[in-house]
Amino acid sequence: MLIGAVEAGGTKFVCGIGNESGEILERVSFPTEHPVKTLAQVKEYFKNKQVEAIGIGSFGPINIDRSSAHYGYVTTTPKPGWANYPFLPELAKVLDVPFGWDTDVNAAALGEATWGAARGLSSCLYYTIGTGVGVGVYSEGKLVHGLVHPEGGHILTRRHLEDTYSGKCPYHGDCLEGMAAGPAIEDRWKIKASELPTDHKAWEFEAFYIGQAVASAILLLSPQKIILGGGVMHQMHLFPLIREQVKNNLKGYVSAAEVTDNIESYIVPPGLGDNAGLSGSIALGLQAYQNA
Ligand code: ADP
Ligand code: ZN
Repeated sequence: MLIGAVEAGGTKFVCGIGNESGEILERVSFPTEHPVKTLAQVKEYFKNKQVEAIGIGSFGPINIDRSSAHYGYVTTTPKPGWANYPFLPELAKVLDVPFGWDTDVNAAALGEATWGAARGLSSCLYYTIGTGVGVGVYSEGKLVHGLVHPEGGHILTRRHLEDTYSGKCPYHGDCLEGMAAGPAIEDRWKIKASELPTDHKAWEFEAFYIGQAVASAILLLSPQKIILGGGVMHQMHLFPLIREQVKNNLKGYVSAAEVTDNIESYIVPPGLGDNAGLSGSIALGLQAYQNA
């Protein structure tokens, strides 16, 4: 069975085709421009492809409330042309298949739960630490939606005592994203994050903020696995620093061996690597097919 997938990012779109085992059979990628142009490329890509369903994991915020007249819309993004744009309805006009539709990070969480690091578990969190920070929440075997959808990238964190940076989030200044996303690191230190040496203070700060967020998420949601992805997490030396911060914050209060004894296999990189987003969209498409 062929399932279509769209990983709709703020800087680039990836369209692909996979199967029910999560294998990616082909993919293309193009920059995110005005929605009319970008969605025309998506329609063109899928035009003659024999897919049974299409899953879309999108940058947000987006409307995922099926009962809403604006289901499938992008909502409040500052991205030119995309605010209040009917993303899903536009595609559904020409592509007659069931659609899965969720946030990029929820899609990645579902992909990891289906085929990746959280396979076989009924809960996990997927963080992306990249251009922004986002958190996908999979709990009790389902993606969490609720009021809108989780926005765990914008939670408030306590400041590192030596950190005087004002923060880069256009809404909140020094929320988690404002302090820890790639652009915040680069603005604070005036150097590309990928070029910072591993012993730079930047990584202590980074682990401090992510470690707080993850500890709070463990307390709030009790996830069985925490997956940290996105460009910044290509810095593998961050993993031990973050795990240590999480332990320091929890202070033994959460009495699960996953945290106290085996945190190396509890807080992990994506099992699907950089395919987590696209594979997650295949998983969303598969779910849409099964529910149709
Ligand atoms: P996006 O969030 O747009 O999907 P990424 O997850 O790749 O894309 O995030 C891009 C950001 O991640 C860049 O702004 C950069 O600051 C940071 N980044 C990318 N690669 C690295 C790296 N190797 N080390 C540290 N930071 C990186
Ligand atoms: Zn924010």
